[in-house]
Amino acid sequence: MAYRVGARVIDLEYTQFHPTVFFKKGAPRFLITEALRGEGAVIVNAKGERFMDAVHPLGSLAPRDVVSRTIHLELAASGEPCVFLDLSAMKPEFVRERFPSIYERCLKYGIDVTREPVPIVPAGHFSCGGVHTDLQGRTNVRHLNAIGETGCTGLHGANRLASTSLLECLTSAKFAAQADAAEIACNVFHLPEPRVWESPVREADPTLIAQDLSLLQSTMWNYAGVIRSPKRLTRARRILLELREEIQSFYRGCRLSRQLIELRNAVQTALLIVYAASLNPRSKGCHYVIDREE
Ligand SMILES: Cc1cc2nc3c(=O)[nH]c(=O)nc-3n(C[C@H](O)[C@H](O)[C@H](O)COP(=O)(O)OP(=O)(O)OC[C@H]3O[C@@H](n4cnc5c(N)ncnc54)[C@H](O)[C@@H]3O)c2cc1C
Repeated sequence: MAYRVGARVIDLEYTQFHPTVFFKKGAPRFLITEALRGEGAVIVNAKGERFMDAVHPLGSLAPRDVVSRTIHLELAASGEPCVFLDLSAMKPEFVRERFPSIYERCLKYGIDVTREPVPIVPAGHFSCGGVHTDLQGRTNVRHLNAIGETGCTGLHGANRLASTSLLECLTSAKFAAQADAAEIACNVFHLPEPRVWESPVREADPTLIAQDLSLLQSTMWNYAGVIRSPKRLTRARRILLELREEIQSFYRGCRLSRQLIELRNAVQTALLIVYAASLNPRSKGCHYVIDREE
C-alpha cells in the first residue's frame, strides 16, 4: 500500500527464514523455539544423522540462515517432507517444566516431544527490509509513517538478530508518537477527506482467490525462497506479473473483501521482493543466490 502511494522501499530481498517450524499434515505451522537447541536439542534427518555438524562448527546452533539453507538442501536431496528436532539429550521432566507450551502444543497434534523427535521445516519468518523510514518512522511521503516490521530503519541489516524486532516496534512507535504530537501541537491538523466510492456488487469467486494465493505462495517458496538464482527469479517475476493482472481485474470488478485486498497486496509485495532480489547478485545475510544456469 505504501509503495502504491510512492513510498520508497528498501532491502526487500532480505527475508529471514526460521529453520524450525512444526510440520505435520493437518496441523497448523508454529514456531519451535531456538531455546530448545540452546538446551541441547539437535537437528537430525529421517535416518537420525546430525547433518548440521558437517556444515558449521556450531552444528544445530548455527545462524538461522545457515540452518534453514542446510535443511532445505537436505530435504531436496532426500525427498523427505521434513527433518526432525531430537530432544533426547534432555530429561522429560525438564522439557515439560522448561517448555510447557511447546510440550502441550505438540502433544495436541500428536507428538510427545519427550518421547519422539519433532518434525520441522524452515518457513518464512521476518522481512528485514520494508518502507524506508527515519528513526521517527517517517517515510518520504508526507504524513505517512511506517512502524514495526513494515518499516525499515536499517536496524536489522541483512539478517535480523533474535528478539530485536519487538524492541524496534516499541522504540519506533514511541519516537513517532512524540514527533507527531509535537507537530500536531504546532500546526492545524486535518484528516484527509475520503473520496466517495462504491464497491461493485459481484462477489469474487473464492476458488479463484484460493488458487491465486496458492500459486503465489508456491512461486515465492520455490523461486524466491531460501535459495534463489537469476533464472528462478526471472521465472517468478513472469508468473507474478501475469497473476497481478488477473488479480487487478478481480479487484476492479468485484466486491471488496479482506481476502481480495490481502491477495492484491500480497502479489505486489511478492513482486517487490523478487525485483529487489534480482537486482542483488551478492549473497549476504538472509539473501542467498546461486548462479546456476538451469
Ligand atoms: C512465530 C514468530 C515468533 C516471533 N518471535 C519474536 C521474538 O521472540 N522477538 C522478537 O523481537 N520478534 C519476534 N518475531 C517478530 C515479531 O513478532 C514481528 O516482527 C512483530 O510482531 C511485527 O509487529 P508489527 O506490529 O510491525 O506487525 P504485525 O504484528 O504483523 O501487525 C500488523 C497488523 O496490521 C494488520 N494489517 C495488515 N494489513 C492490513 C490492512 N490492509 N488494513 C488494516 N490492517 C492490516 C494485520 O492484521 C496485523 O494485525 C516473531 C515473529 C513470528 C512470526
